[in-house]
Amino acid sequence: MTSRSPKRRRTTAPSDGLTRRRFLGGALTLPVAAAIPAPFVGRVAAAAFGSEPGVGSAVVPGQASPYAVVLGTAQDAGVPQVNCFNDNCNAVRRGERPAPRVSCIGLVDPAAGKRFIFDATPDFAPQVGELLEHPPGTTPATGSVPLEEYLHGIFLTHGHMGHYTGLIHLGREGAAARGLPLYVSAAMASYLGANEPWAFLVRNEHVRLVELEPGTRVVLTDSLAVTPFEVVHRQEFTDTLGFLIHGPERTLMFVPDADVWEGWTVPFEELFERSDVALIDGSFFSYDELGHRPQGDVPHPPVVTSIELLGDQRGDREVWFIHLNNTNPLWDLDSRENEVVRDAGFGVARRGQILGL
Ligand SMILES: [Zn+2]
Ligand SMILES: [Zn+2]
Repeated sequence: MTSRSPKRRRTTAPSDGLTRRRFLGGALTLPVAAAIPAPFVGRVAAAAFGSEPGVGSAVVPGQASPYAVVLGTAQDAGVPQVNCFNDNCNAVRRGERPAPRVSCIGLVDPAAGKRFIFDATPDFAPQVGELLEHPPGTTPATGSVPLEEYLHGIFLTHGHMGHYTGLIHLGREGAAARGLPLYVSAAMASYLGANEPWAFLVRNEHVRLVELEPGTRVVLTDSLAVTPFEVVHRQEFTDTLGFLIHGPERTLMFVPDADVWEGWTVPFEELFERSDVALIDGSFFSYDELGHRPQGDVPHPPVVTSIELLGDQRGDREVWFIHLNNTNPLWDLDSRENEVVRDAGFGVARRGQILGL
């Protein structure tokens, strides 16, 4: 693919301390910059980076600037997966590596006091907990503050296990949310409205469905907007969306799950060119990983194919692989495959990674 004109990478930009906004439910009553000493931000990022394999350096945003945070990097079924006894699953099972969480990102606009989450995974409870501690230094208030005062919307990519089943936590047995906006495709909205237990969440107004139109930008705050787009991915129950998340300085492409990069309604390459940072499907490093499972059951563009398609990325754009299957050798930081990814200028997303927008 062609390279594009370099854009300035979003790096730590100290706030002038004049931004005085309060995160609902958070403890930030001080000016944001005063509340979060810069070294603390760095330590938070560094500590989180140690928890899952990855490469590259953190981009820690200025405290008042919007950013995305990676809340999980694994394929739907996580690691270890049920009935999986390969090296990756065994390493986690034996406690030699921390258990990764399922692919998910949070979106934070400190100045507006808003947070959003992209996908409701089987790890939804701890992932929302982690998001509510953003921006760094925020301590969620104790007591019964409604979830929708902390979390201002959920975007769903599609109806596969790892991407929406966390919604189960929003009903009476859990958070009992009230009118929490759920941004979904029209097909996902009909699926949720027609099938229990999700229909119960809709009927009882724990969630409020907001239908997205591919290509139509949704403004979230003064600094953040999202444009959904259609993704080619197997449609057992619903279609699949990816998202361009627009900040004041950078646009993030989020497409954790796809069958192929070809044949999209809006070409993948065109969407990629509009992004400065991309988090893309890295389920399999190559087609050799599945053992007894036919690859046709779970098609994904392998990492090696994506690298070949996108070309050398040692420029200003950042491309991170996410949604790693339990078979993926990229879980092993010392693997030769990690070198291949690094040498081509790509990276493997890590939980806790912050991407300034
Ligand atoms: Zn998935
Ligand atoms: Zn899927």
